[in-house]
Amino acid sequence: MIGRVLHDLVTDLYPLCRSLTGDGLRETLRRLQRHIPLTLHEVPTGTDAFDWTVPKEWNIRDAFVKNRGGERVIDFHRSNLHVVSYSVPVHRRMSLDELRPHLHTLPDRPDWIPYRAAFYSETTWGFCLTQRQLDALPDGEYEVCIDSTLAPGALTYGEYLVPGESSDEVLISVHVCHPSLANDNLSGIAVAAGLAEMLTPLALRYSYRFLFLPGTLGPIVWLARNEAHVTRIRHGLVLVCLGDAGRFTYKRSRRGDAVIDRAATHVLRHRGDHEVQSFSPYGYAERQYCSPGFDLPVGRLSRTPHGCFPEYHTSGDDLQFVTAAQLAGSLATCLEIFGVLEGERTYVNQSPKCEPQLGKRGLYRDIGDNEMAMLWVLNQSDGRHSLLDIAERSGCSFAAIRRAADRLESHGLLKAHESLGGR
Ligand code: ZN
Repeated sequence: MIGRVLHDLVTDLYPLCRSLTGDGLRETLRRLQRHIPLTLHEVPTGTDAFDWTVPKEWNIRDAFVKNRGGERVIDFHRSNLHVVSYSVPVHRRMSLDELRPHLHTLPDRPDWIPYRAAFYSETTWGFCLTQRQLDALPDGEYEVCIDSTLAPGALTYGEYLVPGESSDEVLISVHVCHPSLANDNLSGIAVAAGLAEMLTPLALRYSYRFLFLPGTLGPIVWLARNEAHVTRIRHGLVLVCLGDAGRFTYKRSRRGDAVIDRAATHVLRHRGDHEVQSFSPYGYAERQYCSPGFDLPVGRLSRTPHGCFPEYHTSGDDLQFVTAAQLAGSLATCLEIFGVLEGERTYVNQSPKCEPQLGKRGLYRDIGDNEMAMLWVLNQSDGRHSLLDIAERSGCSFAAIRRAADRLESHGLLKAHESLGGR
């Protein structure tokens, strides 16, 4: 059910021509406002953000290559991948040989259109097409048109805070700058929007900040505008490529041993087949959050990582490539990771000299995992081991350890260790 809702959102957003800036990006964020009360921020062209500057805004209305008969042999309206993103305007006649350096194909995948972008160039234009389309073009003269504008405007991003009991925050960041690509950008957008919608009515420990940003420059601009507040970010996840059939891949934060790293690793281990990667300075927004001047505890959750599936950055990354079931599984996994963050605490055993007698308190009825979890919590709760520490050491799931702690606390056998707060 929830998977279908997420896939419908991917389907709704799929046709929009998103880019680093422009109306496709803006319209994407406006459509998300039907689901969550997202605030749209407009950062004007020319605004400096650390070593970067917001470029001119790019918009496109039409683009085509017409043959002598006036027939569109390449048509932007059939796929927005046909135009290199940020192409400068062009309208003239030229031979196929003159046009050829501006054409991009995938010879190894002759039925797919590649995705290309030329942000920050201001001189480049080009078309992407299938190898089969190119092979079918006869020599001769063509009318080439890209009806785009590159003009002063703004970079748009969306932000939404779900307030919790604490002003400490969990950051969820997704990129929103790719045109018709379903797994790379839309799957993350849909899962993040779904999470925001589900968390909103809940009583939460942390506040959850959702950022919908164009790649690279979006997180840089956001960090530049919010530098004074980033110490509130206690945990964070970049969500990307979450709709394909692959197993989960978690990429650790630069710190490597942050609570989010341990929480995500623990949840994935208990959910089954997965991979955990150490940090590298390549990828998505984690490159900025984990730059040395910030070094935030932000990891990245994907299924098959970017660049590791053949459909990546091609028209093969379409609405069939992502499924409702995989999107739903990704959302559930994120909720389980947040569950660890919400429930993580450190306790002190109030009856630490030998084991307390569980039977006389009615706590010995459930023989098995529950009992084992209680014994672990009692033994390890000396104010120095958190519930996540205990879950990792015992092999029990965090959820089982959390339940055991609740039962022991309700019988007066455990007390929260306030000075540590379990963080
Ligand atoms: Zn991408």
